[in-house]
Amino acid sequence: MRWKSPHPDLDIPSDVTTFQWAFESPQHSPLHCSSSDNLGSYIDATTNERLDFAQVKEYATHISTALIHDHGLHPGDTVSLFSTNTIWYPVVVWATIRAGGRVNGASPAYNAEEMAYALKTASTKILFTLPSSLDVALAAADLAGLPHSKIFLLSGSRSGFKSTSDLIASGRQHNPHPSWSIPKSQTNKTVCGYLNFSSGTTGLPKAVMLSHHNLIAQCHQLKQLQLVSPGQRYKILAVMPLFHITGLVRFVHYPVFMNGDSIMLPSFSMPAMLETIIAHEIEELILVPPILIRIVRDKVVDPYLPALRKIIKRFSSGSAPTSPEIITLLHKKFPHTGFRQGYGATESTACISCHPPSHYDYKYASTAGLACANTEMKVLSLDLNGEAGHGRRRELGIGETGEICARGPQIAMGYLGNESATRETFVEGWLHTGDVGNIDSEGLIRIEDRIKEMIKVKGQQVAPAELEDLLLGHESVEDVAVLGIKDDYAGERPKAYVVLKPGFEPSARQGRVLFDLVKARKVRYKWLEEVEFTDVIPKSPTGKLLRRVLKVRDREV
Ligand code: AMP
Repeated sequence: MRWKSPHPDLDIPSDVTTFQWAFESPQHSPLHCSSSDNLGSYIDATTNERLDFAQVKEYATHISTALIHDHGLHPGDTVSLFSTNTIWYPVVVWATIRAGGRVNGASPAYNAEEMAYALKTASTKILFTLPSSLDVALAAADLAGLPHSKIFLLSGSRSGFKSTSDLIASGRQHNPHPSWSIPKSQTNKTVCGYLNFSSGTTGLPKAVMLSHHNLIAQCHQLKQLQLVSPGQRYKILAVMPLFHITGLVRFVHYPVFMNGDSIMLPSFSMPAMLETIIAHEIEELILVPPILIRIVRDKVVDPYLPALRKIIKRFSSGSAPTSPEIITLLHKKFPHTGFRQGYGATESTACISCHPPSHYDYKYASTAGLACANTEMKVLSLDLNGEAGHGRRRELGIGETGEICARGPQIAMGYLGNESATRETFVEGWLHTGDVGNIDSEGLIRIEDRIKEMIKVKGQQVAPAELEDLLLGHESVEDVAVLGIKDDYAGERPKAYVVLKPGFEPSARQGRVLFDLVKARKVRYKWLEEVEFTDVIPKSPTGKLLRRVLKVRDREV
């Protein structure tokens, strides 16, 4: 059976870049549709520095001109951003797109080795970072063979490095380079503008190719489901990282389309977040489950509660499942709010489904909402092991549980330089999500489990293959499998099942050696929660690791 979105189809522009759509389109750009004294902006919550969208366009124009004229940026080149949230991040995103480049975001928590992998995977030509991350960026650039002359600062200064303000100044010296257009022989569906990392169903992190159309479509889809109080400006708190697909869509692109304010929180703390919500009167909060948990449980919230209750109209959660217990507690603490959920993946430019205004209600909170406009869904049967398997798969009916698949204008182009993973995940336009769930007669989607390997820690991806590769390189490890285990706060944490080589004893000390190895080489959210020594890792006759068997065994213990 197939489910079509219940929402009216949208007409999504297919001949423009995201830059042209956001800043030059008479129909869609706030620069054409709003008065100049009523423009939305990117705001730094800490310093209150504000860049309205006319300034953003102006700065992006100069930066793109400087990158093209003075620093050799060509259409199709990748510009990576290695930074925490700052208002200069979106400016560089727009400058890159304006120049016809591809934007790539990487976690600012990466160490040099992880960042070098990111630079190589995305074929980075130019890198922007902050002074606080510069040393790691330089070490990563050395490992990846990126010259230091191609590294720039988003803000601040460091001797020998140009910053966005230097690029703006040098860009002004030239006639503005015209904004790059989609070639006549193509549409914006076939031009990649963004590379975001995801491990997908299996293996190491890959660069997901998102087209200009993907980003534009997702913004149109989200706007159709958005409620803003009459007379109010749309405001959003950019608390989740901009390098993640949710941040890129919700905090960089969507606010321009909505002519709203995107309020950046450069470093997270509960008081800073709560004070910003109050100061900017933010009605809708888009959060990940671990932050919702803190809102429900952390005593630090109490003094702010009366003010928060007056302001917050709605909580929105996504990126990982939210537990029913937390939803109940949240509703109790904020009885007059609504609740909505977004479900999707990097490979679907964020949302496949979402709750529309008619469903902004806690009674729907256990569902992931309805398919976005222009989106079709199907559920495919699993094999006897509960995996996707290789045989013919049936399309299931109402309420039957299987792999969730989606087709629509937000589904990515594929993985950069990885045809086999692209073929497996994107089948005749259908994204095979690797998520297990079902769809009811109303079209409401329920996500129940995941068959893909990916582990989600506080909404961030951990690829088991990455940790398995590292552990296998240790002298004591004969075989290994890494799995996600439930964690009340983070959602999941990685656990390693390890078979030791002869001569090594399973002991707490040996376990610590492996914990420490991961700690030394990987960013904090990838650290192991548990090591279990075992005699054998279950494998299929063809040698495929049977994660499902371990997962079931783990749940039974
Ligand atoms: P990412 O590409 O990092 O956004 O991760 C995508 C994965 O996160 C999905 O395939 C799901 O496994 C999980 N996910 C995202 N949103 C939800 C949600 N609302 N409920 C349950 N899992 C989710």
